[in-house]
Amino acid sequence: MNEAAVAPEKGRRRVFRGGMMQGVIFEIERWSLSDGPGTRTVVFLKGCPLRCQWCSNPESQSKKPQIGIFTAKCIQCGKCAEACSIDLARPAKDGGFAEGGVCAACGDCVEACPSRSRRWLGKLVDSGEVLETIRRDMVFYRKSAGGVTFSGGEPLTQPAFMKEILEGCRKVGIHTAVETCGAFNWEASEAAVRLLDFVMFDLKHMDPVRHAEITGASNKVILENAKRVAALGIPMLVRIPVITGINDDPENIRATAEFVRDHLPSAVGIEALPYHKLGLTKYAALGMEYQLHHITPPDEARMEMLRGVISEAGVACITPDTGYIPDPVQPKLKAFG
Ligand code: SF4
Ligand code: SF4
Repeated sequence: MNEAAVAPEKGRRRVFRGGMMQGVIFEIERWSLSDGPGTRTVVFLKGCPLRCQWCSNPESQSKKPQIGIFTAKCIQCGKCAEACSIDLARPAKDGGFAEGGVCAACGDCVEACPSRSRRWLGKLVDSGEVLETIRRDMVFYRKSAGGVTFSGGEPLTQPAFMKEILEGCRKVGIHTAVETCGAFNWEASEAAVRLLDFVMFDLKHMDPVRHAEITGASNKVILENAKRVAALGIPMLVRIPVITGINDDPENIRATAEFVRDHLPSAVGIEALPYHKLGLTKYAALGMEYQLHHITPPDEARMEMLRGVISEAGVACITPDTGYIPDPVQPKLKAFG
């Protein structure tokens, strides 16, 4: 990879200085209302050890910046082929690359493409640049009791980068949250986790064998990490992505709720999230195969039934109507400086 092609934007005024740890992100979304309490800036980090079949962010899986090929936008001008010094780039409508050869990921074809048919998915940034973007929306966080959420990918695959940003947030009183799949190295990540105000923790399946079938890895470390986060007393919201025929049986949902009830004392409840078929364009852009074309999202009746299972197990069922952090945890949110 030619880092110049993905270097942080130059020539911009920096509000935060000193944050120089570098990390790879693929998006920063501002004004999100669905990634934690209040209005939030969401920083999406690249890299994830799991390979969930339903993943809606396939560009988050690799740790490296990647070049996406978006066929529909190609005007077949041929500028990408002219720019490529190893004669590998081809118009997106012709597949994007010649047969054979290894892309040097220099980005020359991306810069030459006038239609954004070739696009970087991910870039190398420094923590100060991310903090500056987060800081821009302080007024919205203040008004809505919002803050910043780290998502991905698995954000805690870049724990040192995250820790530096979290320290910067803490200095100015910005509420922080993470959306985690739980598959991270605890020793490397504990210091970053301790700086979090809120953790949204995915539990996809309670059976380790089934978990490995649908995500590529056992849930052993994930369940251990869930207990460790809870032991720190950090408010947690457990989230179950409900995928038809994959993990939507009442037995699995009940086992998840019982685990939360018995082992996660800081959990405020469970949010069951119906599967959505999103991100298919990005699969195509990366030449990846989407395996769940045949799956339909669960209907509202099934979701209601599963929410009933969670409630029967004695665990609060969190929905967009109840809010992310019901009382009495909400008052623990930090005041903004
Ligand atoms: S990034 Fe584009 S220009 Fe660079 S080697 Fe790969 S195909 Fe060629
Ligand atoms: S530069 Fe972009 S628009 Fe032009 S042929 Fe290549 S991919 Fe298509």
